[in-house]
Amino acid sequence: MIDNSAKKLDGSRVAAEIREEVEAEVAAFGERGAIPRLDAVLVGEDPASQVYVGSKAKTLTALGMVSKTHNLPDTIQQDELESLVDELNADPEVDGILIQLPLPAAIDTAAILRRVDPAKDVDGFHPENVGLLQQGRPRFVPCTPAGIMEMFRREDIEISGKRAVVVGRSDIVGKPMAMLLLHAHATVTICHSRTRDLAAVTRQADILVAAVGVRSLIGPEHVADGAVVIDVGMHRITDRETVEHLYPGNEKKITAFEKRGAVLAGDVDFTRVLPKAGRITPVPGGVGPLTIAMLMANTVSAAKSRRG
Ligand code: NAP
Repeated sequence: MIDNSAKKLDGSRVAAEIREEVEAEVAAFGERGAIPRLDAVLVGEDPASQVYVGSKAKTLTALGMVSKTHNLPDTIQQDELESLVDELNADPEVDGILIQLPLPAAIDTAAILRRVDPAKDVDGFHPENVGLLQQGRPRFVPCTPAGIMEMFRREDIEISGKRAVVVGRSDIVGKPMAMLLLHAHATVTICHSRTRDLAAVTRQADILVAAVGVRSLIGPEHVADGAVVIDVGMHRITDRETVEHLYPGNEKKITAFEKRGAVLAGDVDFTRVLPKAGRITPVPGGVGPLTIAMLMANTVSAAKSRRG
């Protein structure tokens, strides 16, 4: 049997490396009497958002930074949320502000993101930071695509001259990912829900990034032999039949499912794409940990540029 394990891009390992570097920077910063601080704004009771914010806060604290979460009811009004953002913008102790998305439908999300001081916008969602990225002068880059680029760099994955296809055009992942690949001299195509014959386009890719939000959309028919496949998708699978279909004969997955009642899967059908791919990120343990690690890196970088 062919051993495909060497193909896996270990996001957890790369993220651990980044976290170690951040921890050293935080310690050096602390010697000068300052501690980087990130404030998260969490509106409502969405369990997934609570888990994300919780794990970001835990990592910040573990690396020696200060984390504060502002929990607000989903009945909050636009002006109240804007006042909180104004307060955080004005607070000299706050280096980074994270607005956990999605916000309730009644809130104008774009207006809130615009209100965040661009110098504290560690998620890179403010129009000024989006513009700087577009011009190739990045300040804060959205954490997921930034983490993927960092992994390419550390794993010596060449981008220049390669054909890259990004499936998904969200402001958070797809668009900044495409922009970063373009600045790294790839020839970039962006696909979305109106793309015709998706597989014909994605098969052209040397580097394929799936950020779609549709479980297992990308199958072997979408992938060229030897392509680098990056799976941004994250889906909780809670029924055994689907787990068995996605991971046939994979005892580890079944055991994990029995223990926790769920396993995570991505936008890529990992089991079936693995034999074709040159390198591939698993879910979990691929892109997810990189996203959090880059948030840590962006927070230190905000503290450095604000506090000198
Ligand atoms: P999103 O805002 O929902 O965007 C999804 C994109 O995929 C849209 O551009 C949409 O096209 C496109 N799309 C949907 N169905 C498609 C189809 N059948 N064929 C081709 N394109 C299709 O999602 P997102 O925020 O970018 O997130 C994508 C996934 O990544 C989600 O599973 C999310 O949970 C995950 N995620 C993971 C991390 C992490 O750290 N691992 C971070 C962020 C997001 P249209 O524009 O035409 O609608």
